[in-house]
Amino acid sequence: MNHSTPSSTEIRAPSGTLPDAVRHAEPCLWLNPDRLAEVPAAMDACGQNISLHDTQAAASRFGRFAPLLARLFPELQASDGIIESPLTAADPLAPRLGLAPEQGRLWIKADHGLPVAGSIKARGGIHEVLEFAEALALREGLVTPGGDYRALAGPAARAVFARHQVAVGSTGNLGLSIGVAASALGFRAAVHMSADAKEWKKERLRQRGVEVVEHMGDYERAVAAGRAQAAADPFCHFVDDERSLSLLLGYSAAALRLQDQLREQGFAVDAEHPLFVYLPCGVGGAPAGIAFGLRQLLGPHVHCFFAEPVQSPCFLVQMAAPEGTHPSVYDIGLTNRTEADGLAVPRASLLAARLMRPLLSGVFTVRDDTLFEQLVQVLDATGERIEPSAAAGFGGPALLTGSESGRRWLQARGLEHSLPQATHLVWTTGGLFVPEAEHRGFEARGRALLAARR
Ligand SMILES: *Cc1c(COP(=O)(O)O)cnc(C)c1O
Repeated sequence: MNHSTPSSTEIRAPSGTLPDAVRHAEPCLWLNPDRLAEVPAAMDACGQNISLHDTQAAASRFGRFAPLLARLFPELQASDGIIESPLTAADPLAPRLGLAPEQGRLWIKADHGLPVAGSIKARGGIHEVLEFAEALALREGLVTPGGDYRALAGPAARAVFARHQVAVGSTGNLGLSIGVAASALGFRAAVHMSADAKEWKKERLRQRGVEVVEHMGDYERAVAAGRAQAAADPFCHFVDDERSLSLLLGYSAAALRLQDQLREQGFAVDAEHPLFVYLPCGVGGAPAGIAFGLRQLLGPHVHCFFAEPVQSPCFLVQMAAPEGTHPSVYDIGLTNRTEADGLAVPRASLLAARLMRPLLSGVFTVRDDTLFEQLVQVLDATGERIEPSAAAGFGGPALLTGSESGRRWLQARGLEHSLPQATHLVWTTGGLFVPEAEHRGFEARGRALLAARR
């Protein structure tokens, strides 16, 4: 099965549950009828069973590598090699998003500032590079289990790593994280980029000695080209954004840290204190990994919602499609054109979609204009600079609490009465490395839109 290009022969109309608004590229909220309150401990991830144990294993791997990462990346010295982001209250932003105090409090999980990669891809992407490096190092006797991984910065390890290549297909941010992590360890690195990838992301990679291969087509084309090239080279490890369990589990480790941060802030997550989490979604691996971890750890009262651009709602389309089909957004007449380059994906990861079937609460879509407006609102209320993709989650709280379908859904679950004690957590997923001039352009566009609305 290879869905590298939109094909007419494979088109099967998604079932009637796909809202008309999705086809018309209008913002909407889709609610998952198959969500289960109780989460199975072990879940099938396309042929492999995964559980909280695997999430913990990913977190332990980050821990084992922390001393090495602190040595390789000066920006990680202060955190002793731990790559994490703060959880911050965002009360001043709430009214601008249409969230009243009696509808809960607004918080931000600030992955837009994650060091090394500058986006949420620091979690999954770096994890997969580390897992590959660890397996190789153990096999070659470069380290022993439980040993000091700082040895991997030495000449013997680097000579071994230099014989291997790590490759990936990406719209940008995954390439940045894989390229930077792989080249820092001494691997050769190749990033296959789609046409919509931003120029500055390519430039940043080239500066670090990463080979950037440019492709004319979309994200799926870049992935397919990278996958094919890697398959022909036994010394090449291909990070497969559409199928990788290592990526997904790397993302899922975020849930463990978030659980600690919620505790530190004195949060309870229970029937009286529901937690709503809004996650920008591209192929689905990042948000699905995090949602998997959160549902395993926090149970029935955490509700995860994915956010997608109106022209690239691949995950929503997949969730609403009949079992056994794998439609793309082109199949329903959408363009997959969006300024949210991190989310410009035409077809969802089946691994992520299957895993989310019983776990996810819903998916909503956002217009590009809204992303720019909210990027400015975030800047003005918090001083934080995020990229357009990272703003996608901010439309969630108002849709859930203010729309007809959202309110009915809350009512049906008895969640309306607990809204005043609810937490709305918006995951901001990228932005740290956006060049100043680029961000000024985003800001100008957002301000013009906001002014026109007044
Ligand atoms: C990649 C990315 C996402 C979504 O991750 P997927 O695994 O593609 O769903 C969200 N935001 C940003 C900024 C990203 O780069």
